[in-house]
Amino acid sequence: MISVPSSSLQPPSLLCPAADVFAQRAERFRHLATGHSLGSWLTWLAALCQTQQHALDTRKATPHGENLLDDAFGIIRPLAATLDQSPALAGLDDAALRVSLQSAYQYACEITPIANWNIVDLFAAAALQVAGTHHALQQTPADVPQSAHCPCCGAAPVGGILMAGDGKAGVRYLECSLCSSRWHAVRARCTLCDSSGVVNYLGLQGHHPAVQAETCDTCHGYIKLYSQLKDIHVDPVADDLATLALDVLVGEQGFARGAPNLLMHEGEAVLAH
Ligand SMILES: [Zn+2]
Ligand SMILES: [Zn+2]
Repeated sequence: MISVPSSSLQPPSLLCPAADVFAQRAERFRHLATGHSLGSWLTWLAALCQTQQHALDTRKATPHGENLLDDAFGIIRPLAATLDQSPALAGLDDAALRVSLQSAYQYACEITPIANWNIVDLFAAAALQVAGTHHALQQTPADVPQSAHCPCCGAAPVGGILMAGDGKAGVRYLECSLCSSRWHAVRARCTLCDSSGVVNYLGLQGHHPAVQAETCDTCHGYIKLYSQLKDIHVDPVADDLATLALDVLVGEQGFARGAPNLLMHEGEAVLAH
């Protein structure tokens, strides 16, 4: 019998985002848009993610700065320009863009609502994701403690993900809403209040079996859980926006959403034409 040191059986506590995370997400949005009642919105978000990938690829060679918001500030106008949306930002000075970035960052970290969420806030949030992912890709792997917030950038998770393969099958990670890093979180424990009390799982019958809402009877909050075991291509950002019907269902049962999605705000979609 070969003895394996117990430490090698532990799943890694932190997983870096993939270098092509936005391209993969764009592909997932395109897939989910097919035949979906919100298809045109999801297709537009696919284009936004593709633009984020381009922005990340062009930054890869440069070292990131100390400040996430400063880095994001340099990305927001080129991001909008690539999508032919420069006019949306034309009347705004730099100070206004920085206010938008600060609001989007606070939304990501504390789920603080943004007043009058609009297309500028969406580009600010998308730019923050690029800057955050750029930071996360340059981090050195480290052991991180269990936490409700991202050990890399401090943002709240967009949801949980049950992994497949690589010795991590069935292990739950939380995925950062801002930088897409994933960190290990034990299962059957509420992410929002850390209660090990009653955690239930609700899904949309017959639709999207890989997506469930993990509800907590202690704090009456929920986050969504995405299972790679049921769909290997599941993406916590894209699949979240394709399953808003689940949020309605869970909301009707008295549970409050406890996870930000930076491409959406309080159930409100923004679509530029
Ligand atoms: Zn993060
Ligand atoms: Zn709870």
